[in-house]
Amino acid sequence: MPPRRLPAREAPPLPRLRSVTGLAMVFLALVCLSLLAVQGWSSYSARQNYLDEANRSTVNMARALADHAEASINLVDTMLLGMVERVQNHALVNDPQRLHTLLMNTVSRTPSLQGLFIYGADGRWLFNSLPATPPHANNADRAYFEYHRTHVDNKTHVGIPVRSRSSGVWVVPVSRRLELPDGSFAGVVLATIKVEYFKTYYESFAIGERGTIFLASDNGRFLVRRPFKEQDIGADLSRGPVFRLWRETGAPTGSATMRANIDQVERLYTYRRLPNYPLVIAVALAKDEVLARWRTSAMAALAGTLCLIVLLLFLGVRMIGQLIERDRLQRQLRAATTALEATNASLQLLAMSDGLTGLANRRHFDDRLQAEFKRAVRDQSPLALVILDVDYFKRYNDRHGHVAGDACLRAVAAAVLSGQQRPGDIAARFGGEEFTILLPGTDLAGAMLVAEKVRAAIAAQAMAHDASPFRVVSVSAGVHACIPQRGEYPRTLVEAADRGLYQAKAEGRNRVCAAEPSQHAA
Ligand code: GH3
Ligand code: MG
Ligand code: MG
Repeated sequence: MPPRRLPAREAPPLPRLRSVTGLAMVFLALVCLSLLAVQGWSSYSARQNYLDEANRSTVNMARALADHAEASINLVDTMLLGMVERVQNHALVNDPQRLHTLLMNTVSRTPSLQGLFIYGADGRWLFNSLPATPPHANNADRAYFEYHRTHVDNKTHVGIPVRSRSSGVWVVPVSRRLELPDGSFAGVVLATIKVEYFKTYYESFAIGERGTIFLASDNGRFLVRRPFKEQDIGADLSRGPVFRLWRETGAPTGSATMRANIDQVERLYTYRRLPNYPLVIAVALAKDEVLARWRTSAMAALAGTLCLIVLLLFLGVRMIGQLIERDRLQRQLRAATTALEATNASLQLLAMSDGLTGLANRRHFDDRLQAEFKRAVRDQSPLALVILDVDYFKRYNDRHGHVAGDACLRAVAAAVLSGQQRPGDIAARFGGEEFTILLPGTDLAGAMLVAEKVRAAIAAQAMAHDASPFRVVSVSAGVHACIPQRGEYPRTLVEAADRGLYQAKAEGRNRVCAAEPSQHAA
């Protein structure tokens, strides 16, 4: 049994690397998600900017287009008013040649005009701006003629485009009613604006491949549309998105993103009603085309972000791998250190203990004796020593053999160890068949009691010793206790106890004797 167990030194706790690894993973995930979120947010706001910008441009174009339509019609309307005035007051009517020249000059100076016409109450051509009047021409069947014949008002009428009877081109008829002094219908004055004029203007706007511009009557009929198709003229678009929006808002202008009935393309529409004529102008950009540039740049930015994320993940995973590896190495190192410490402790224990009995060995006893002696000098506390010696042990060996002698020594050592009771006590093998018990803080009486207890315990074991007069294994013990003084040496304590032992042997063995006080003093 080892004399005293060394307390196992607690290894300091390792930093919680597993949680550091977890933290690193969370951090990595957060960085990647943040990058994606920032990218997503900036792409979304860029998309909104593109749409807002497109919407602003449709609003501006609608304004310019409305002003253009209004100004174009206003111009011919002013001419019509002048003609009505002249015809109704018979000015110039009596001079057909002058009137014809006037009409011709007016048309030739006005690029938007195709012609100017004056029809009688029966629809016959009275005057016009053409070089020659077609024979038997009659326009009583035209919608505008029918309108003025049946409507008593002096407003300008803008009709659905028709193919000109004189030139065959598509024209927008703008007309006014002629009246006799009594208010009865006297005919119609007509100005025809070339559809080509609007078409050319509308085609000068950059609205992409699938953008659209159209001029329509407020009851939902196409007048002119870009892209231009003859079959669209007069088509009903009252159920289309623009008129739906107009009906919903009732506002003179409005914008919305809607899908067109005509081609199912989603567009950003802005419409504007002309202030003085029953007409609506609308301009629209295809959403796809508006967002095409945004899509390209968003894809490039997304690809860049994804590359960055892949790089971050690659580096992050490597870093986490290194953390895990470091963790593993630290654990290995810690395990190796603990094992080394345990080996050291057991080596230290081995160096301090006696191989046969397991008690403290002589070296350890000497160290402890030195230390306790000094402490006793310092504290002026008593220090006692018991030396025990197996009686007639040479004979025991001779009789029972050395192996049995070793076993006997182990049994004696176990009993000696029972004398080591308090924390400071130490039982040791002093050498051969001699043992010691060092008892700090114990006086002579106490030490005598301990020695006697050990002696009695060995005797009680009753190990057969045929060569001893006691017939059993016995021990003799010498005891000494003192309060050591400065200048004294531990050796004096050992010598005194040894004298006690000598005395016990001399007095017949199997007993405990204190050293003679006089001898110690001497
Ligand atoms: P006394 O009663 O006077 O002490 O006589 P003794 O025979 O015990 O004393 P002595 O000093 O003459 O003999 C001691 C013997 O102890 C001698 C030695 O052979 C034996 N011995 C010493 N160490 C060991 C050991 O480790 N094992 C064994 N078996 N015997 C040992
Ligand atoms: Mg001896
Ligand atoms: Mg002996």
